[in-house]
Amino acid sequence: MKKALVIVGTRPEAIKLIPVFKELKRSKHWLTLLISTGQHHEMLKSIFDFFEVQPDIDLAVMTKNQSLAGLTGLLLSACTTVIENHSPDLIIVQGDTTTAMVGALAGFYKRVPIAHIEAGLRSYDKTAPFPEEVNRRVISAMADFHFAPTKTAAEALKYERVQGKIKVVGNTVIDSLIFATKKVSKQLKKFDRKYTNVVDQYERMILITGHRRESFGDGFKNICKAIQVLASTYPKISFVYPVHLNPNVKDVVFNMLDGLPNVYLINPVAYDDMVYLMTKSYLILTDSGGVQEEAPSLGKPVLIMREKTERPEGVEAGCSLLVGASQKRIVKAVKNLVDNTRKYKSMARAVNPYGRGDSAARIVSCLRNEI
Ligand code: UDP
Repeated sequence: MKKALVIVGTRPEAIKLIPVFKELKRSKHWLTLLISTGQHHEMLKSIFDFFEVQPDIDLAVMTKNQSLAGLTGLLLSACTTVIENHSPDLIIVQGDTTTAMVGALAGFYKRVPIAHIEAGLRSYDKTAPFPEEVNRRVISAMADFHFAPTKTAAEALKYERVQGKIKVVGNTVIDSLIFATKKVSKQLKKFDRKYTNVVDQYERMILITGHRRESFGDGFKNICKAIQVLASTYPKISFVYPVHLNPNVKDVVFNMLDGLPNVYLINPVAYDDMVYLMTKSYLILTDSGGVQEEAPSLGKPVLIMREKTERPEGVEAGCSLLVGASQKRIVKAVKNLVDNTRKYKSMARAVNPYGRGDSAARIVSCLRNEI
């Protein structure tokens, strides 16, 4: 048996890695350990509970007001100790977080092969998203297996002449979304009751999420101004916004939007609630990577509140549109989709370019042949 360490630290990583972890657990070829670094401690717990998995090791490295440098230092020594104690044959990391970058670095220093899930995403701007763009480029320099979600991502890796095997497998986020929609559909009544005031009492609902560092300051102010305008233009539409807990986001959003009659500022929601709300929404305004990938599978147009995206496939397929953190562009794009049903339908009908729900199986089968 070969030993694999699956390292997760944040909510999106857990959502995207648990299908791979479960698939490895099912295979007799692997002894698999789930390592949680605890970068997003509370949010991780809720994801583990939802997917009914528990980490084998919890490094619990996050402390209050942790700096990036502090987190990096703690993670490197904690991950190195885990590798020394368990001598794995493979380390699996996902995406572009500090956990993923440092987990890979610890493996690289110990000469353990590294598999990188969701490899090859690029904005080619080291400041946006910060620090994720550099994290993922650094991981590409160290990884031995690059599991790209799309052809575009694989081409970026080939262009950069990264070493190791590159394979296009789709995005595991769709594996999880399928699992989650099935689970949510069995509890629809519970969710209908919970969200009746924001869903049933309005003609439509627009869902909003936003947390990117690049939008702190003026960016979030512009986003909020756009929501103010839209909320007063469309009183029969509810605007539901699970607000990220970071004070740079929360303070501005509450200052500018709290109290508007059809705007609902709620705490970040559990993954199953999020899947329910996405399903019930008319369209989604977001800067989130995962949401950009999930929404097309649910037939929901996405307006991306960023200037650039490392997920251009959705824009090219017609599922999403870049609107920046610009009041004017957000208002115009929402109006266009609310007032023009033809435009709306063409976006809602586009085919999801990010995956079919079989990515974890494809990854594990590829690794089986290689290790
Ligand atoms: N999500 C969630 N609750 C929320 C907001 C997002 O469960 O309140 C989910 C969302 O469906 C997606 C993932 O979290 O699967 C995306 O996480 P996030 O936006 O934090 O990170 P990104 O994808 O931008 O890295």
